[in-house]
Amino acid sequence: MAFELTKEQLMIQKMAREFAAKELAPLAAERDRTHEYPADSLKKMGDLGFLGMLVSEKYGGENAGTVAYSLALSEIACACASTAVIMSVHNSICCGSIEKYGTEEQKEEFLRPMAAGAFIGAFALTEPEAGSDPQAMTCTAVRDGDHYIINGTKRFITSGKNGGVVILLARTAEKGSRGISAFLVTHDFAGFSVGRIEDKMGQCASDTVDLLFNDCRVPASRMLGSEGEGFKIAMSGLDAGRIGIASLSLGIAQAALDESIRYSRNRKQFGQNLSGFQGLRWMIADMAMDVEAARLLVLNAAAVKEHGENCTAAASMAKCYASEMAQRVTGQAIQIHGGYGYIKEYPVERFYRDARITTIYEGTNQIQRIVIANELLGRQ
Ligand SMILES: Cc1cc2nc3c(=O)[nH]c(=O)nc-3n(C[C@H](O)[C@H](O)[C@H](O)COP(=O)(O)OP(=O)(O)OC[C@H]3O[C@@H](n4cnc5c(N)ncnc54)[C@H](O)[C@@H]3O)c2cc1C
Repeated sequence: MAFELTKEQLMIQKMAREFAAKELAPLAAERDRTHEYPADSLKKMGDLGFLGMLVSEKYGGENAGTVAYSLALSEIACACASTAVIMSVHNSICCGSIEKYGTEEQKEEFLRPMAAGAFIGAFALTEPEAGSDPQAMTCTAVRDGDHYIINGTKRFITSGKNGGVVILLARTAEKGSRGISAFLVTHDFAGFSVGRIEDKMGQCASDTVDLLFNDCRVPASRMLGSEGEGFKIAMSGLDAGRIGIASLSLGIAQAALDESIRYSRNRKQFGQNLSGFQGLRWMIADMAMDVEAARLLVLNAAAVKEHGENCTAAASMAKCYASEMAQRVTGQAIQIHGGYGYIKEYPVERFYRDARITTIYEGTNQIQRIVIANELLGRQ
């Protein structure tokens, strides 16, 4: 299947590429080193419309479609994977879920400013004892008049510290997926605090934190969707989120391939450029094949979603393949750089670390394979 991108999609891709090269690439290594949150870059991305790409025009968004969004996200990831993961969770999961399930008041209060980049969204599903199995969550939301009282801990939450709103999943009934509800929680609530801040291998400029809820009273009007609808909201958000992570993985791998081509043309051994050695030429050819195969899966998943079809299997396939591809390609990029690839001065060292998480978050690749098999064979 050949993808012919529209003029508008190509224009958005170009705009993202130029922004990423000018604004993100020069700062990415330093932000990785200092763990500095890319607040000023996100502000500029908001002004350019990159934080409301999937939001309808009615709420101030770009309504650019999932394909254009995926293209833009890959370009951002090519320069800075930390910024890209913040963009992905914000657009795919948070804006998408609020637009789909939010009330008019919630959309005005949260979606409109989020689309303009006024604040960033976070999504809190994982808990210390509930990772791949989110139905094991123990965070509770107990109704008390026109409030819910929330108690529990959420773990590994991207933008949990620096984001302005959190989609929190908590138990409103004791058992099963229908006992889970979603809430829009903000840092001004008493009883809500940020716990430990993780020191990570990669994507270091994005914050990953524990969120602590201790008798936190949340107005019932902050429930997203209806009571018991939280698991459905989370799973549909993750379908979209996985296309985001697939696009991000593709961007990191493309950057690693580009760097490898550049380096192999300049580095000389045995009196000739590395790019002249057949062993390395074949590595570059394999890397390019892998990147292109992933690109087709990613664009396919984005197109399926954009057409309003069920994208669960396509999104999981794209996420699973693109993330594993990104690990292969970033590893090969280090090999092509020899010892220099292992040194922080060269960007492939960061690409390798940044790619490592992509097979784990938003559902590990073992879970993606379960999702794909369930779509093909039915649940066991
Ligand atoms: C940097 C980072 C950012 C993150 N951001 C967010 C976020 O914004 N929001 C959020 O809610 N979560 C987030 N997460 C959490 C992430 O989604 C989880 O870490 C992930 O889902 C895996 O859960 P776990 O770490 O508890 O691993 P576990 O579930 O304990 O899994 C451990 C291993 O067992 C395997 N496994 C588990 N069950 C099965 C099975 N049934 N069959 C086969 N293998 C299985 C897994 O694949 C894995 O290899 C983030 C994590 C990190 C590290």
